[in-house]
Amino acid sequence: MTWQQRIEQQLAQRRADDSFRTRQVHERGSGRFLVSSGRRHLNFSSNDYLGLSQHPDVIRAWQKGAEEYGVGSGGSGHVTGYGEAHKQLEDELCDWLGYPRALLFISGFAANQAAIAALAQKQDRIIADRLSHASLLEAAMLSPAQLRRFAHNDVQALDGLLAGDCEGGQLVVTEGVFSMDGDQAPLGDIAAATRRAGGWLLVDDAHGIGVLGEEGRGSCYQQQVQPEILIVTFGKAFGVSGAAVLCSADVADYLLQFARHLIYSTAMPPAQACTLSAALRVIRSGEERRERLRRNIADFRLGAARLPLGLRDSQTAIQPLIVGENARTLELAARMRERGFWLTAIRPPTVPAGSARLRVTLTADHTRDDIAALLEALYDETGK
Ligand SMILES: *Cc1c(COP(=O)(O)O)cnc(C)c1O
Repeated sequence: MTWQQRIEQQLAQRRADDSFRTRQVHERGSGRFLVSSGRRHLNFSSNDYLGLSQHPDVIRAWQKGAEEYGVGSGGSGHVTGYGEAHKQLEDELCDWLGYPRALLFISGFAANQAAIAALAQKQDRIIADRLSHASLLEAAMLSPAQLRRFAHNDVQALDGLLAGDCEGGQLVVTEGVFSMDGDQAPLGDIAAATRRAGGWLLVDDAHGIGVLGEEGRGSCYQQQVQPEILIVTFGKAFGVSGAAVLCSADVADYLLQFARHLIYSTAMPPAQACTLSAALRVIRSGEERRERLRRNIADFRLGAARLPLGLRDSQTAIQPLIVGENARTLELAARMRERGFWLTAIRPPTVPAGSARLRVTLTADHTRDDIAALLEALYDETGK
């Protein structure tokens, strides 16, 4: 089969399965309202959990940073791209999260790829929660280490895998909050099992950081766990983009030698680092925002329990409603859009077959009336 034939065949397969992905152009995609084709929708699809993508202090920090430093970093951090704004943000992250060192990355995807690629060698074993993010599982698959997956949040299954013979090191990989289900990992038990086996723990807290725990320190702080490698990302509660790896001084120095995504890639713009520092200040003092988010989650769950859709046992801002079939999920999402609510249909292979869902995400910027209106429309559309 030629390249062209193979591509055509794979595209045809996706279309036949109702799993063909397209992007839509939006006039505005983040914030409380999503504007698309001239129409305003209440946005229940963004990861901007605290509304910081639209926060005036954060926006001003970006403008001021650009005026001061220009718009680009000019190179890799190993050449000329690492400046005082980057150093300051790293120091602030260390102070906030209680780690000796932080390293900035251009995205969470890159941070996960870099950390795993640099650490995992041939004799090692990576033991990852089955529902870990694609960036983690893909990095593990591409690495020369052995990859084993444990049943979602199942510490006994993890224990069993950790007990197997392994010549090298064992790296346990999980998330603080799971991106498609919204449930949280039992990090205390996972950390204890990992420690008993002499392994290391990597936690990707993309959806917990900024939102959970005192001062928004995230899932690990909330559960009193300090993994050897903590990944935090800035595209969700921070409202911007980018990521950081928090770790020991030795691991940071090691990554600076061997993490190719860091060495051979342009550093984030200094203005972005200034923006992230501003977002971090809002997050640390943002208990009122987190309280509003918690209230919205509670309101939504109370009302959604009556829907004939599978509400998951999630206490976080991610509240998936399981529909089942792809076609029905797409249709429901389209009908909700008609009514002015933007909900994303998530289909396999992002989630297991037969569990297509509307992934509802709540933010601190939604009002109680927004949540009530969403629930009313869902009752109507599902015949309740
Ligand atoms: C979003 C996400 C990432 C990727 O982060 P980006 O900064 O968007 O590249 C990594 N891990 C998890 C769990 C995520 O949800």
